[in-house]
Amino acid sequence: MTSVSQKTALVVGGGIAGASICLSLKRRNIQTILLEKEPSVATKASGNPIGVVYPFLTKHKTAESEFSYLAFQYFLNLWNQLKLGELVPHVNGIHFLLDSSSLYERYSHALLSHKIPPEVARLEREPQSQIDVLYFSQGKAISPVSLTKELFQLANPLEKMQSELLSWQVDEADGKLICKTINETFKVDYLFLAQGYQFSKDPSLQWIPMKQVRGQIVEIPATFFQNQTSILYGDYLTAEINNKRVLGASFDEFHLEEKPREEETLALWDGLRKKLPTLREEWDPVRIHEFGTRVSFRTQSQDRHPVVGKLPNVSLLDTTVKYQNLFRKNGKQFQIPYYESVGILNGLGSRGLTHAFFAAEILVNEILNQKQELPEPIIQSLKPDRFLLRMWKRDQLI
Ligand SMILES: Cc1cc2nc3c(=O)[nH]c(=O)nc-3n(C[C@H](O)[C@H](O)[C@H](O)COP(=O)(O)OP(=O)(O)OC[C@H]3O[C@@H](n4cnc5c(N)ncnc54)[C@H](O)[C@@H]3O)c2cc1C
Repeated sequence: MTSVSQKTALVVGGGIAGASICLSLKRRNIQTILLEKEPSVATKASGNPIGVVYPFLTKHKTAESEFSYLAFQYFLNLWNQLKLGELVPHVNGIHFLLDSSSLYERYSHALLSHKIPPEVARLEREPQSQIDVLYFSQGKAISPVSLTKELFQLANPLEKMQSELLSWQVDEADGKLICKTINETFKVDYLFLAQGYQFSKDPSLQWIPMKQVRGQIVEIPATFFQNQTSILYGDYLTAEINNKRVLGASFDEFHLEEKPREEETLALWDGLRKKLPTLREEWDPVRIHEFGTRVSFRTQSQDRHPVVGKLPNVSLLDTTVKYQNLFRKNGKQFQIPYYESVGILNGLGSRGLTHAFFAAEILVNEILNQKQELPEPIIQSLKPDRFLLRMWKRDQLI
């Protein structure tokens, strides 16, 4: 039975973002309902057969790279704490190729500027090719589908499959949220929006500059290569999971058809062969375009950083407050009004698996007004507010 004070949250989207939010809510004893449009979870971006987990690093520390490194550490802690290694097929070890002097310089600096210890990442040689690499010993190839499903198992939300959120609004009487699907109406205390690339169907999110990006991967029988760990070289060839390796990924933000493109498969194969010619003795008789391919879509924000935070209510913005007048006497401050109990987790780009756990924890903390243990610049760098502020400075708010 629900106690009088028990709060309820609706989480929209059964991908890795929605799963991570459900888990964060479970850890705070919030009753959770999951809405997923498809018949099961992890069928869209989080439905790829294999993905890689490692942090994004820049030469000098930035809010973005610091977030990514902290997210990677958070991922590893949770992975160990929840014993996910016993539940999710995975292979440890990522070799990130440093086959130019500029790459070597960037990442050797990154190790120092981020104070990364050698047990997390170190410079060494990839054993087969003898090329310089940055080696993440705890980086992983994993099955995103298994990971997402296991998180949902652990979080145990009330699952509503084939249930699409069509609209939501705040009930002015009590501040709760009324959320409608075709068959049901839910009244909840909190709403978490994690719809992936389908975000733009929600009118309250259309102002956020995020794009749908098409991605194509090739599934290769594991026996074709002998690499024990995943190798990243701009594209990537993963370690073996469930008798497969994944060669990926080609990305395109302009042409979004769902059908696989043969020329992209051939280009991925050609790229691998040029970068790592010693991986196979004989490359030519392989009919790579006959292998399985998968197309899926991710979201990418304008600055390629995730979008995580309380949702601004743009319909209440006071657009008469001009940035140009800010420093004048009695100039009014620009205030951002929010939907106080609505959060967004999106724009996970091509590192959703590494970033989702940590991003969800930050988001749930913010919506529940709990203390954040993070430096403020990191939290600010994630908020959707940044796009509004940019538009305000450029006088682009109507
Ligand atoms: C080709 C490719 C390769 C990638 N490789 C990697 C990798 O190696 N490592 C890595 O970290 N990341 C990788 N990524 C990125 C990663 O897959 C994504 O960042 C991540 O899966 C996004 O998760 P999500 O939960 O935001 O979105 P999704 O997994 O797309 O989930 C969104 C869910 O919301 C549901 N939904 C949408 N609208 C509604 C609605 N109105 N009502 C109810 N449900 C709704 C959808 O059906 C879907 O299930 C890759 C992405 C692609 C495309």
